[in-house]
Amino acid sequence: MEVFYGKGVSDGCCIGAAAILHSNRAAVKNEPAASPEDEWHRYLTAREQLIARLDALCRQSAQSVGEENADIFAIHAMMAQDEDFNREIERAIREHRQNAAYAVSQAARGLADTFSHMDSAYMRERATDVRDVAEGLIRLLQGEHAATDTLPDTPYVLCADDLTPGQTATLDRSLVLGFATARGSLTSHTAILARSMGLPALVGLGTDAIAAIRDGDPVAIDGQLGTLILCPDAETVARLQQQQQAQSARAARLQHLRHTPTRTADGTSVKLYANAGTPKELEAVLACGGEGIGLLRSEFLYLDRTAPPDEEEQLAAYRHLLENMGGKPVIIRTLDIGADKQVSYLPRLEHEENPALGCRAVRYSLTHPNLFLTQARALLRAGEYGDLSVMFPLITAEQELRDLLRLWQQAEEQLRDRGYHLSKRIPIGIMIETPAAALISDTLAPMVDFFSIGTNDLTQYTLAMDRQNSALLPFLQPHHPAVLSLIRMTIANAKRAGIWVGVCGELAADPVLTEQLLRMGVDELSVSPPLLLSMREHISHIRLSTSHSLKETKKEISHATKDVCHS
Ligand code: PEP
Ligand code: MG
Repeated sequence: MEVFYGKGVSDGCCIGAAAILHSNRAAVKNEPAASPEDEWHRYLTAREQLIARLDALCRQSAQSVGEENADIFAIHAMMAQDEDFNREIERAIREHRQNAAYAVSQAARGLADTFSHMDSAYMRERATDVRDVAEGLIRLLQGEHAATDTLPDTPYVLCADDLTPGQTATLDRSLVLGFATARGSLTSHTAILARSMGLPALVGLGTDAIAAIRDGDPVAIDGQLGTLILCPDAETVARLQQQQQAQSARAARLQHLRHTPTRTADGTSVKLYANAGTPKELEAVLACGGEGIGLLRSEFLYLDRTAPPDEEEQLAAYRHLLENMGGKPVIIRTLDIGADKQVSYLPRLEHEENPALGCRAVRYSLTHPNLFLTQARALLRAGEYGDLSVMFPLITAEQELRDLLRLWQQAEEQLRDRGYHLSKRIPIGIMIETPAAALISDTLAPMVDFFSIGTNDLTQYTLAMDRQNSALLPFLQPHHPAVLSLIRMTIANAKRAGIWVGVCGELAADPVLTEQLLRMGVDELSVSPPLLLSMREHISHIRLSTSHSLKETKKEISHATKDVCHS
């Protein structure tokens, strides 16, 4: 038995066979080709397949993201047919008997180098395109599948160096018992997804731990202690089984709270909503007795596919969600891609040194207005089928919000021109997840219907700590006074403008903060579905109306006023 220590990011424990998710990029070996002639033909076939794929992508995306943005696929197809590039590959195969994948990788490296040293920024960016084209060809030549295709069809404990949010979202939930990754952190999207699936998860185990595990090895995860146990002994298995039973008993005990409203011990109502990664999580939301959906991360509709969902597909997904929520409020956040949620088929602006500080969320929407307009039209049409609100992620400036509201209006006009009658006004909110937005929340509040505080990003950007980086775990103070101060200021400004305010980041489910947040004046908390009932129980023990609470409330108000005066 061997024990590895990481950070538990989702409670619970599991025992099962390990399945290793191997990195997506297979090494290209320099093995000579048996027959250069056959190898050349193999290359030509792969090239044809890639060009056909790129042409299809170009056509599909011209409709959904506009011709200008779809051009990137045409450029890739052109590169795959470039004479010099192909001559280089042919020479390497025929004269140097290189295998086709290796010949492609070498030719692409030379060409990318040439591009990356050019004077024009536009031409320098083409280096990334060459690498993308080469990757596509190599994948076809090596018959590679998506990494998740190789996972077993019997239950397993997933062990990986890291997981992308797209990979996590597409896993077969009936088979995954738990997650263990070498990297990651508490608020990385993979950890958030694991929590929303109610599966035990560990991050930050380090690469040595994952390297020590082989496919099929018996492993156990203890999410509470943050340990991964390789080949657990009988005593450990018995202890974890006992823990599992205790957890199931607690979950069963909380079931009676499913249909009760959320109230403090002294009768203050709290809106307790659930976060959902995908419309597929609807079942989990309904099962946990969520009073609404406080955050639907709509970008998950866009991940792990080859073209963006068009207006009709999005409408169908949102409509399904709204109808099944039976009139309960649903807040859908517009596309938040970029940073750790990269979408390979969408054009990248250029290589980003710091993607988390780059063109993500509304910045991407504003630079690709057609993509945003398609989503806005789908949302506006979906609004007819339930209680829908929409919010924009990662706002930093008043002008940005004005531009988004103008685009929203443009989407409404486009639909009216197409003959749609929109009978409802959809409330529009923004996420407060940058210090900039919190500091100007007095200006932003009168422009919207509500605020939702995204504490995951607010913490990342306030503390200048990458939420993906497991090396920062020892430095991370989730209750840092600077973050709490920005939250307090945001709430005070929302109240002053007469709008409601919620918290949808992971701190919303942190029981240590619940009372403080409610005293600050938070109206809504949105948490992972598996945590919802224990939060409801926890809130039911909180008393806000004692004399102590009055004192505390006064303190909160004076803090807030001080913050606002200093802002
Ligand atoms: C947040 O940043 O707190 C948030 C809820 O958004 P996400 O975790 O999807 O970035
Ligand atoms: Mg965020």
